[in-house]
Amino acid sequence: MQELACEKCGLGVLVEKFSPAHTSIQWESDTSECPLISGSGFAPGEHHRECSALRDSIDRAVAKSVLTESHIELPVGPSLPRLHRE
Ligand SMILES: [Zn+2]
Repeated sequence: MQELACEKCGLGVLVEKFSPAHTSIQWESDTSECPLISGSGFAPGEHHRECSALRDSIDRAVAKSVLTESHIELPVGPSLPRLHRE
């Protein structure tokens, strides 16, 4: 994971970029401190909370190669081990 600060509210997050479509974000502080999230009307802990400015910050960091994709091999499709056999 790489550290990144939101350009808007300055809150620090840890970001793991697996691919252009798959980004994992871990907040280092309470998301209610972000004005965009606290003003969005979502309840604390709700799944959809996110800061659009942070998303832009991540996109820019990727464009500037500050943030690099980690290219971890994720199990996909049939190769995924099945936990329950019938
Ligand atoms: Zn923010």
